[in-house]
Amino acid sequence: MNASEFRKRGKEMVDYIADYLEGIEARQVYPDVEPGYLRPLIPASAPQEPETFEDIMTDVEKIIMPGAASPACTELETVMMDWLGKMLELPEAFLAESGGEGGGVIQGSASEATLVALLAARTKVTRQLQMASPELSQASIMEKLVAYSSDQAHSSVERAGLIGGVKIKAIPSDGKFAMRGSALQEALERDKAAGLIPFFVVATLGTTPCCSFDNLLEVGPICTEANVWLHIDAAYAGSAFICPEFRHLLNGVEFADSFNFNPHKWLLVNFDCSAMWVKKRSSLTGAFKLDPLYLKHSHQDSGLITDYRHWQLPLGRRFRSLKMWFVFRMYGVKGLQAYIRKHVQLSHEFESLVRQDPCFEICAEVTLGLVCFRLKGTNEQNEALLEKINSAKKIHLVPCHLREKFVLRFAICSRTVESAHVQQAWKHIRELTTELLRAQKK
Ligand code: PLP
Repeated sequence: MNASEFRKRGKEMVDYIADYLEGIEARQVYPDVEPGYLRPLIPASAPQEPETFEDIMTDVEKIIMPGAASPACTELETVMMDWLGKMLELPEAFLAESGGEGGGVIQGSASEATLVALLAARTKVTRQLQMASPELSQASIMEKLVAYSSDQAHSSVERAGLIGGVKIKAIPSDGKFAMRGSALQEALERDKAAGLIPFFVVATLGTTPCCSFDNLLEVGPICTEANVWLHIDAAYAGSAFICPEFRHLLNGVEFADSFNFNPHKWLLVNFDCSAMWVKKRSSLTGAFKLDPLYLKHSHQDSGLITDYRHWQLPLGRRFRSLKMWFVFRMYGVKGLQAYIRKHVQLSHEFESLVRQDPCFEICAEVTLGLVCFRLKGTNEQNEALLEKINSAKKIHLVPCHLREKFVLRFAICSRTVESAHVQQAWKHIRELTTELLRAQKK
C-alpha cells in the first residue's frame, strides 16, 4: 500500500469506526454465535495471490462483527496461526486444525515467548520429578535446574533464566557460529554427572549477531532423548521459511516443543506480533491456568474453545490476528515470498560489493538479509569507521563481536528498500573509509 492509498483507507477506517460508535446502542452486548463459528467461514489457508482491501472489509463486516471481540478475536487468531503455520510447512502437530494437542498463539515479543516456554518447561519437569519422588521440594528442584542456549543466543534467553530463577549455560558455538549436538551433549552429560537437572534448550535459527543457524537436526534428537524441552527462537529468520528455498533451515522443527518467530520483524505485520506454536497446549495451560470466579464463563471446560489467557503472561488480549489477516490477504503468500526474496537478493548484492573491495572482508556466511563485514584491520579501525558512519547519520549500522573481532552489520530491513539504496550506502561507506584511512596515515 502506498502513501496515497494508506491516506484513503485510513480515512475510510475512521468513518467505519465512527459509524460503529454512532450505532452502538442498536447492537447486542453479547454475540449470538456459538464457539467454533468462525473457522468454516474462512478458507483453510492463506491466499497465494493478493486480494483487495474491499474484499477484506466486506469479510470484517460479515465474519468478524457478528462475533464481536469474543469469540472472534480468539478464533481468528487460531485460524491465522494455522495459516501461518502452513505457510512455514510446520508439522501438523503444531496446528490447531489437526485436532491434536498443538496450536499457535500470538505473544507480544520473542522474549515473552522464550520466557513462557521456559516457565512451562520448569513446571513440567518439577511436576514429573515430584510425581516420582514426592518428598522433593520445589526449591530443591529449582536450584538444580539448568537450561542451555548457544553462546550466540539473544540476551532475552539469559533474561528468561534470570526471571525464571534458573541457571542458563552458554554452549560454545562452532566455526560457523552454530550450536552443535556434540557440544550440547557434552554439557548435558557433565551437568547430569554433577547432579544438575537439564530441562530446557533454546536453539536459535538466525542469531542476532550474524544470522547463524543452530544445528537442529543434531540438537533436536538429543533433547528428545534427554527429555529436555526444546524451544526454537527464530525471531528474525522465521519469516524467510515461507519461501521453499529457505524452508530447509527449519528442518528439525519436528523435535521442538515450542517454536517462535516475529512476523513484526520481517513479514510486514506491524509491531507487535510474535507467533508461537506449541506441540502440547496442556504444557502451557498446566503451568499458567488459574480460574477466579470473575473469569469463569459458560464454555469453561467444554473443550470447545481456546482460552489464550492460559497460554501467556498477560490476561487481556489485543486483536492482533486482524493485522495478520489483512497482511496475508493483501500481499498473498506469493507477495510475501517476493518481499523476503528481494531483501535476501539485496543483501547478496551488498555482500558482492564488499567482496570486490580488497580492503574489506565478509565475516559470516550471508544467508538472509544480514551482511557482517569489516575492514581488514584492527578492531580500533573498525570502531572508528562505525563511529564515522553513524555520526554522518545517512545510514545506521549496529555492530557485533564475532569471537574477538569487532564487526559491522549491514541489515536490509526497510519495506521500501531498493538496489539504489544499497549502492548508495556502499558508496557512502567507501568514501568514509577513504577519509578514515587517509586521516590515519597522516
Ligand atoms: N531473539 C532473537 C534471535 C532476536 O534477534 C531478537 C531481537 O532482535 C530477540 C530474540 C528479541 O526479540 P523481542 O524484541 O521480540 O523480544
